[in-house]
Amino acid sequence: MKDYINVIGGGLAGTEAAYQIAKRGIKVKLYEMKPKKYSPAHSNENLAEIVCSNSFKSNLHTNACGLLKEELRMMDSLLIKIADNTSVPAGQALAVDREVFAKKVTETIKNNPNIEVINEEIIDLQKLIEEAITVVATGPLTSDELAKRISEITKQDKLYFYDAAAPIVTKESINFDIAFWGDRYEQERGKDEEVEVWKERLKTTRDKQNYINLPMNKEEYEKFYNNLISAEVVELHNFEKREIFEGCMPIEIMAKRGEDTLRFGPLKPVGFTDPRTGKRPYALVQLRQDDTEGNIFNLVGFQTNLKYGEQKRVFSMIPGLENAEFVKYGVMHRNTFIDSSHLLTNTYKMKNIKNLYFAGQITGVEGYVESISSGLVAGINAANEFEGKEEFVLPVETMTGALATYIATPNEKFQPMNANFGIVPGLEKRIKDKKEKYNILADRALKKLEDYRSKKEVD
Ligand SMILES: Cc1cc2nc3c(=O)[nH]c(=O)nc-3n(C[C@H](O)[C@H](O)[C@H](O)COP(=O)(O)OP(=O)(O)OC[C@H]3O[C@@H](n4cnc5c(N)ncnc54)[C@H](O)[C@@H]3O)c2cc1C
Repeated sequence: MKDYINVIGGGLAGTEAAYQIAKRGIKVKLYEMKPKKYSPAHSNENLAEIVCSNSFKSNLHTNACGLLKEELRMMDSLLIKIADNTSVPAGQALAVDREVFAKKVTETIKNNPNIEVINEEIIDLQKLIEEAITVVATGPLTSDELAKRISEITKQDKLYFYDAAAPIVTKESINFDIAFWGDRYEQERGKDEEVEVWKERLKTTRDKQNYINLPMNKEEYEKFYNNLISAEVVELHNFEKREIFEGCMPIEIMAKRGEDTLRFGPLKPVGFTDPRTGKRPYALVQLRQDDTEGNIFNLVGFQTNLKYGEQKRVFSMIPGLENAEFVKYGVMHRNTFIDSSHLLTNTYKMKNIKNLYFAGQITGVEGYVESISSGLVAGINAANEFEGKEEFVLPVETMTGALATYIATPNEKFQPMNANFGIVPGLEKRIKDKKEKYNILADRALKKLEDYRSKKEVD
């Protein structure tokens, strides 16, 4: 066994992992294919290149990503420290000067005597893991050859290539005066069935029903439709336009094909009866459970490319979602990620393959800060394994721990996830005021992290 750890990919997760390993006195070989080869979204030769927005989102603790950043600060994250030092004015958000940020990360990593940066595209992953503990952090745009090898090594064809995720809302923010549970045709009132008989039948089958349904009348549908087709969208990269639209149709594009297209597609009302009217609704939106506990639900068929603010505005027009809390907005971009829910443990280590860790967006965490958090956890765990120390597993009440738990929990419909309060255990008492609830959850997380650190003497 070699006396170093390999890290593949010098992006956000890879540089954080390399720093955490090196900080513990262990040598690192950090492989980055740039500047010899660039992914379709990367263009700068520095490490830790930020490919899109320059925002690391809110700094407020009452925001899940704000809490995640605070936890990372407490755990000496190199990238968050540099982000703080290279920030530009952005209100309550942490936004960085991307050029200075990437330059500073590159300098710090290259000047670290324990880290050797090697500019090479890694294809033969098997060779590396036979030699040494290896962290793969090659991101959502992992080079094609390596993606093939990962697929072979993990012995699964579950290496997904597109992130066409629909928005996710919390169950408790849905208005159940309008929403109702029910599966298509099973909930529907039979032609000759009395209303009271139908209602009684529903009560007895309710617990077997999987979907939350939001019925719309003609007027509500038309208002929603007109706002949807005129809402602002995110500009896509050329490679995304080519690749994504063949595989997956955003709801706003589908809507533009005609006013009734959605009513014959994802908003089809057939097989449902609106409990308020006893009749079939004009259109109907379905929500499907997204986590094991049933706290968060995604809008079925609502993969979208609308700007986040527009998603909130337009989708809140759906009756029942007027006060919806969006824990995740829909996104559409190419994304390579493994089915971590079956492959990884909550240390980001492969369950059945020796020496192999994954970190960053390729694990199914989503977002800049989330990628950094997984790089930190994977890096510390790789270092601990190297030194024969115990695993570094944070309490699930922390946002860092909740993300690690989320990706490692078996889930047949595993999809990438960003930091949100829907993935941490809820409070015993229901608190209606969102800000108050998030404050309590954030305080609890920081206290748990502090306790864990003092007990385990994490440096
Ligand atoms: C187009 C696009 C836009 C995004 N926009 C945002 C956004 O606005 N906000 C947000 O929070 N998140 C965004 N994300 C999601 C995600 O947060 C970022 O992609 C983030 O950079 C992921 O960090 P990472 O370390 O996992 O991967 P990356 O930062 O992409 O780093 C991976 C590195 O690995 C290198 N590499 C790849 N293959 C190999 C190989 N075989 N050998 C050696 N090196 C290799 C790459 O060159 C790259 O430097 C976006 C993703 C994409 C694809």
